[in-house]
Formats: sequence, C-alpha cells, structure tokens
Amino acid sequence: MHCPYCNASETKVIDSRLAAEGAQVRRRRSCNSCQERFTTFEMVEVVMPRIIKSSGKIEPYDNEKLRRSILLPLQKRPITIDEQEAMISRIEKRVRQMGEREISSKVLGEIIMSELKTLDDVAYVRFASVYRDFQDIDAFHQEIANIRPNEKQSNETDK
Ligand SMILES: [Zn+2]
Repeated sequence: MHCPYCNASETKVIDSRLAAEGAQVRRRRSCNSCQERFTTFEMVEVVMPRIIKSSGKIEPYDNEKLRRSILLPLQKRPITIDEQEAMISRIEKRVRQMGEREISSKVLGEIIMSELKTLDDVAYVRFASVYRDFQDIDAFHQEIANIRPNEKQSNETDK
C-alpha cells in the first residue's frame, strides 16, 4: 500500500489489531520515506452475485427477499431463529462459493430448496410445492407478496 502522504511504496506495519468484533483487521502503518503514519482496514470481501430473473432482467442480490421467501414455509415449524439464520448463511455461502458474478434465480431457488430439505421436511414440501409451479424464485416472491397470512377469509362470513 502506497503512503497517502508522499506516495512511497515502502511502508511498515507498526500495530495490528482486530476491529469490528473480529470482522476487520486494523493496521497502523508508518511510511519509510516521510515517517507519516496512517491506518488501513482489511476485511473479507463479501460479494454476492447478481440475480438473473427469468425475464432476463438482472437485479442485485437481496437478502431480505431471501428471508421473506423462507419465512412462510417455516411458519409454525419447530425451527429456532438461530437455525434459520444458520441456514441463510449456508445458502449465501453456497452462492458465493459458485464464484459467479451472476446466477439465475432458478439456481438460487434450487439452493434454497436443498437447504430447506436438510432443515425441515415440512417446510421443504411447502416451499417446493409452491415453488415448483413457478420454476422461478422471482415469480415465487411475487406470489408470497400477494399472500397476506393475517387476513382470513372467514372474517367476512363471521359478521
Ligand atoms: Zn510517506
């Protein structure tokens, strides 16, 4: 890393410590030429690929969208928040490990399905039965957006 003051390329690390609860390494550096000191932060680059929808439209990966799509099939299942979060991490890890800059929403849907299958049979069947009809995770998201679980039709007849 070049010195931000004199642009010299030789700098030395004089202190190194963890920051942001271990997610970053903070390094205090000293320039060999001008002796100025500066700080650098190092962190893991977490880049999710963009998602290619069946329409051909490309969108950035959306963590909230993923959460919403597994919330419904996991409803009233004996799955803790920790288990749910761990599954989301596994899904995102698998997606990153593909090393692609773009993946299709269909591939993402398949990964979600295989992780749900490992976690909970009922949730898997719920997800798969709906998802298979759409063959595309975006169409599935759209369907979920249209479902409002708290509004029961029976409210009308109870009056
Ligand atoms: Zn310098």
